[in-house]
Amino acid sequence: MSVFGQVKVKDGKYKIKGDFHHITPNVPIRNEDEGWRLMGVTNPRDMTYIHMYGGEAVFFENLGRARLHGSRCDNPDCETKGSVYLPFRIHCPDCLSRNTVVDLTDVARKTATIHTFMVCERSGAFNTLDTPIKFINIEFEGVVTILMSYLCIGEPKIGMRVTPIFRTVNPTYTILDLSWVPEGTDEKDLPQGFTFA
Ligand SMILES: [Zn+2]
Repeated sequence: MSVFGQVKVKDGKYKIKGDFHHITPNVPIRNEDEGWRLMGVTNPRDMTYIHMYGGEAVFFENLGRARLHGSRCDNPDCETKGSVYLPFRIHCPDCLSRNTVVDLTDVARKTATIHTFMVCERSGAFNTLDTPIKFINIEFEGVVTILMSYLCIGEPKIGMRVTPIFRTVNPTYTILDLSWVPEGTDEKDLPQGFTFA
């Protein structure tokens, strides 16, 4: 079995190693009711996709360090100067200048509330979260956008105060390193690998 593709950047270039696609033999699809007549084939395919984070890398790096970062427009000529964004936005949507990275961990700990929520009983391919998934839209004091994430303990309610938790043990470097629990949750009840800020 070959190694899945791995990537690093060195001297300003992508260095790739291993196999980025695996072709597995086809398997015939036969009709049991008609003397096992051939109906088609399955086409098994695996591929490794290279997903670059660009200017958002700082956000994902810091989740594993139990910090939640957003961004802010500091352009003095911008009509919406001072707007704070979470989800993280690399550029200001109004003036397109590069935003300043800001640490919103304490803002989240002190002011995060559920704006609205959605409970999903079934999920799509490659989902790793337990169902039902409690997706929550979270609002923060002083932040002009709303963050989509998931509540991993308890039942969501509109207006409920929630606290961020972070996967600091073996982080995945994806948005799944961030989750939320009701305010006042005991640290010992957190999912394995997660911690408070
Ligand atoms: Zn701006």
